[in-house]
Formats: sequence, C-alpha cells, structure tokens
Amino acid sequence: MNILMAASECVPFVKIGGLADVVGTLPNYLQRLGNDVRIILPKYKSIDDKKYKLETLPLKLSVDVAGNKESFNIKTCKTSQVTVYFIDNMHFFYRDGIYGSDFGDFGDNRERYIFFCKAVLESAKALGFKPDIIHCHDWQTGLIPAYLKTVMKYDKFFWKTSTVFSIHNIAYQGSFAADTVVAAGFSWQDFTPDKLEFYNKVNFMKCAISLSDAVSTVSPTYSLEIKEFNGLGMEVVLNSRQDKIYGILNGIDYDYWNPKKDKNIAANFSKEDLSGKKTCKSDLQSLCGLEMNPNTYLFGCVSRLDHQKGFDIIIDAMYKLKNENMQFVILGSGDRSIRYELEKAASQMKNIAVFFDYNEVLSHKIYAGIDAYMMPSRFEPCGLSQMIALSYAGIPIVNRTGGLSDTIVYYNHFSKEGNGFTFNITYGENFVQTIYKSEKIFRDKNNWNTLVNNAINCKFSWDNSAIQYNEIYKNLSAYKEF
Ligand code: ADP
Repeated sequence: MNILMAASECVPFVKIGGLADVVGTLPNYLQRLGNDVRIILPKYKSIDDKKYKLETLPLKLSVDVAGNKESFNIKTCKTSQVTVYFIDNMHFFYRDGIYGSDFGDFGDNRERYIFFCKAVLESAKALGFKPDIIHCHDWQTGLIPAYLKTVMKYDKFFWKTSTVFSIHNIAYQGSFAADTVVAAGFSWQDFTPDKLEFYNKVNFMKCAISLSDAVSTVSPTYSLEIKEFNGLGMEVVLNSRQDKIYGILNGIDYDYWNPKKDKNIAANFSKEDLSGKKTCKSDLQSLCGLEMNPNTYLFGCVSRLDHQKGFDIIIDAMYKLKNENMQFVILGSGDRSIRYELEKAASQMKNIAVFFDYNEVLSHKIYAGIDAYMMPSRFEPCGLSQMIALSYAGIPIVNRTGGLSDTIVYYNHFSKEGNGFTFNITYGENFVQTIYKSEKIFRDKNNWNTLVNNAINCKFSWDNSAIQYNEIYKNLSAYKEF
C-alpha cells in the first residue's frame, strides 16, 4: 500500500513531544511490512537544510488560503528507510518557534495549518504519489480528511484514498471561528454538525473525527476515557464513531533509547550488566550540583511544562519531602508560571536541580542516572517518558490514567511482579505516600534489584502496534477496492 504520513512533528527533524517520536518511528515499521511509506511535514526554520541534505524538487506549487495565493516548494530527503517531504513556505514556517512563542500560540495558526493541509494534498498530486492511506496526526492535519469528504469528494486522484486520523492529545483541538469555512475554501453547505460545524465553530480535530475513515488513539485506556469522560467536549462526536475508533499503544525506538550503546551517557549498561548505571547516577548528580551520594533516592522528570503533566503535584511533593534523603532533577520547557514555581522551589531547596530548555542530550543523562521517574499526569494519552525510563532502569511513579494504566503495573513485593508504582488522583490516592512506599522498596536492595530487572525487561516495541495499524489500512483499502 502507498501510505502518506502527514504530521506537524517528526524526529529527528522537529520535536515538541511524543507525537514526533511516533511519526519518526512508526513509518519504518510499516515500510518493513511491505508498504511504500512517505512522510510529509512543514519545513520549519529550525530544520537545517545542510544537516539533513535536503534537495528542492523542481516543482512550483501554490494553494489558496483565506483569499491569498500561497506558493511553496517541496524539499525532500531520505532517512535510512523512508522518503520525507517538507512543505517549504517562508511566510508560514520560516520563523522561530513551532506552534508559538513564549507568549502563546501564533495568531495565524489557523492559516498555517489550513495551508499545510491543502499543500499536502496538492503535493501528493504533483509528486504523482497516489496514497491508499493518508495517515493524519493531530489537529494540525485535521482538515485533510475534511477536504477529501467534501470539496474534493469527486477528485479522481484520490478516489482510492482512505484517511486514518490519530489523536495524540485531545486537549489540543484547533478550534476556530465559523468563517474558517471561507478561509479554508469549504462550502457553507458542509457547515453542519455531521461534518464541519462544532458549536458554531470549525474545530479541526472534530472535522477529522467525523470525516476520516478510521480514528485511532495512542493507548487502549485513553480510547475508552475520551469517549466516557476525558474527551474535553468531544465525547459525543467520538461516540458517534464508536465502531471506527481504535486504541493502539505507542512503542518506543529501542535502537535509539538503548543504554547499551547510548553515546550521551557517562557509562553504558544493560540488563545483563547494570553496573554502568551507578556511574550515570553520580555523573548526573555532579552535573546538577547535587551531593554525590549513591544512597540518595534520585528522581527525574523530562517533560513539557504543562498543567497536564501534574507539575503542581510534583512541586507540592518536593516541598513535603524536602527533609528526606531524596533529590529531584527536572528538565522541561513550556508554561512560564510552572517554570516560575519550579525556580522558586529550586532556590529554596538544595536537593533540586531544574533546567529549562529542550535538551536531548541532557534528557538521556537524566533517564540513565535516576532511580525513579515522576509522572503524575492528570491525563496521559500514552506517554513515552515512562517507557523510556523503564528501558534505562528508572522506575516510573505514575498516576493511573490513559497509557500510564496500560504500561505501568504496581510492584508487588510478594509476587515480585510489576514495573513501577501507581496511584490514582481520582480516588484521592496520594503521590507523596506512593513515593514513601517506593522508598521502602528502594532501601530494600533485593526487592529493588528485582523491580529494576522487571523494568528493564519491559518491551513496548512498535512491531505489534505497526501490525495493528497495517490491519486498519488493509481493511480500509479492501473496502475501497470493493
Ligand atoms: P508528550 O507527548 O505529552 O509531550 P510523552 O511522554 O509522550 O509526552 O513524550 C515526551 C517526549 O518528549 C519524550 O521523548 C521526552 O523525553 C521528550 N521531552 C519532553 N520535554 C523535553 C525536554 N525539555 N528536553 C528533551 N526532551 C524532552
């Protein structure tokens, strides 16, 4: 099958969160299953032409956005496995930031992603790449299924094309005023609740849920939660597509997140020989200016600074645990008020180290050096950080929600089963108490070694998930053939 992956992030080119990891990894697995997979992304300013050896194709294209003709080029490169295309337009993408600046989202995000959605479809035609499936990710690509089901319904080029829409985080929906109908070039006839309209607005995510041929979310539990109570207004729309919604757990790239050959960490280690982890811990403590004590229980967190991630819970815990033999290292970028609170806590307690940028190398050092990983997310579609922590023998302590419920099992010191510690905010269970319970195991070396061993042996690989996506694609294509 020909598969076009349309997304606004993809490793190694551009990453804000887990979406980028998924879009950068899943295509390789689908390609190995015999598909011709191509990825298409915006060409942001931060994507370095020279580093990735981008070539400009001899195509001059344009689309109409809000009455303006927007020209663009297609740049391309090949990763080890798949071809990647970049939509190159100075006006919308040649600026600092991906979705916004320190002061909030860009004011023209609506136009930027209308442009991107139109440009994806125009590019497929110009490239002569007839997709059996266009797999769209998150609201930024949400109008692609909408175009194919409305104004482009009779377009011969796409007559065999089906769309799959993946929800990576339903909290970001791309909701804009009703005049988006005009700006995006739709007809008012399609401004109805079953198609484009959502409470008198055009909500890109809703358009995609209503009009794509299948919808997936990134974990089985999240797929249930968003239909029941965590859909942020989208519950009814999701329930109207009940039979077309799939929950498929993300995996991680174990070639990349591999402590055995990771060049960013102070010493390599593996499940057979964990001794290097001690070196990574002391290296991290030294780098963070923390006391270099192997017996101190060391916690980490690498995350977007966002209310979703439960930073209020983490900060509260750090104050409550300030007199314990514990240390905390946090790397994050995002919300300024969370940053302020973290800075305040770090200035008052010498067992806390905080870093506020996007830093891939430091993230590896943190995963490799910590004993435990804090993830008290209020909701979590899938979560990759807890999987990464496990692969570096860091023990996740998580709120039992979404993908965290699907991946982390409370360690039972009788049966010796489990890979972390869980609590449930909704049931009033407490993060600090859970940390104390985990500390008991940390100080009991036999149990801790068993737990670490369980953790590093967990595998959330893409093989199984890719097969599930492939099945969805095959069923949709078979239907079109019919
Ligand atoms: P989300 O997609 O909600 O941001 P995930 O846990 O699914 O959360 O994925 C987050 C990914 O982004 C992980 O790979 C994590 O290591 C990475 N990450 C988040 N913040 C940073 C940062 N400041 N520096 C480096 N990596 C980060």
